[in-house]
Amino acid sequence: MATADPDCLFCKIVAGDIPATVVAEDERTVSFMDINPATRGHALVIPRAHARDLHEIDTDDLKAVAAAAQRLAARQLERLGAAGVNLLNSNGAAAWQTVFHFHMHVIPRYEDDPLKLPWLPASGDMDDVAAAGAQLAR
Ligand code: AMP
Ligand code: ZN
Repeated sequence: MATADPDCLFCKIVAGDIPATVVAEDERTVSFMDINPATRGHALVIPRAHARDLHEIDTDDLKAVAAAAQRLAARQLERLGAAGVNLLNSNGAAAWQTVFHFHMHVIPRYEDDPLKLPWLPASGDMDDVAAAGAQLAR
């Protein structure tokens, strides 16, 4: 069992204690839909083991996160019709990190989409978040 922080939101998602639209899992990582999507299909990849940020994450977990993000990015092109993908990882409040369990944003990009980074998080349409999640899930 990976190390968990009882006060951490994303550890609770790993444990299944709060709901998430999980689209992929492996021994070291969990991938799920962001509830405030920057674009349709925006997902997060996290290590199962709690680590605050890039400075704390185990190197093998970091490799596993990168590999999971690569697989998810391919699905965003194949299944959602994305034309590109941004990978984004923020470390520290000064760098826009708001949830202090390492996560990689996998943000599909569409021809001429209006996204500017950093985006202003706003609640997504949860039906469409679930629908995009179903398209990305195995
Ligand atoms: P960051 O600002 O890089 O720390 O990103 C944190 C991300 O987590 C934001 O994009 C939030 O929309 C997302 N987020 C926060 N709570 C949840 C949740 N319960 N399920 C899915 N995504 C979440
Ligand atoms: Zn955590």
